[in-house]
Amino acid sequence: MNLTCQTLSIRIQYTIIIFGTNKLLKKMNITNNSNCTFCKSFEENLCHLFFDCQQVRDIWNKLETWIFETTGKIITIGIKDVIFGILSQNSYDTNIIISLTKQYISLKRYNKQQPHFTELKTYIVKYCIIKKKNFTNYDNKHNLNKTGILTKLSMNNE
Ligand SMILES: [Zn+2]
Repeated sequence: MNLTCQTLSIRIQYTIIIFGTNKLLKKMNITNNSNCTFCKSFEENLCHLFFDCQQVRDIWNKLETWIFETTGKIITIGIKDVIFGILSQNSYDTNIIISLTKQYISLKRYNKQQPHFTELKTYIVKYCIIKKKNFTNYDNKHNLNKTGILTKLSMNNE
């Protein structure tokens, strides 16, 4: 399937919208506990689950460090970027990384497991490898930028 950044981003936003946080599930009387699945200390709303939670913050911080150490690019991911994606030009790779991270957090939340940065790294690198293998099936616009962040991240971790 040929997913552009835009459609991937929309797809992930949709995932979040239909995502039942513990706050929502408690409101619907599906659960008694509205606490966060990861830290169990704060109410689990979308902002907390995908950004404010210490466990998740740790993931975003390590991701920024990984990008900097691998590519030399300083990227600061804020709450708005996590919810809406980065709207500026040339943010294709970063938006893919943000989307993959959100997907990973959703998966961990769904399976009631703690998120781990090393696992997220593998998740992102695997995505890059699959993209590269399918190189001929994509036009350049939809393919990995050879000098882009995603390519560099996967090169050092294959
Ligand atoms: Zn939490």
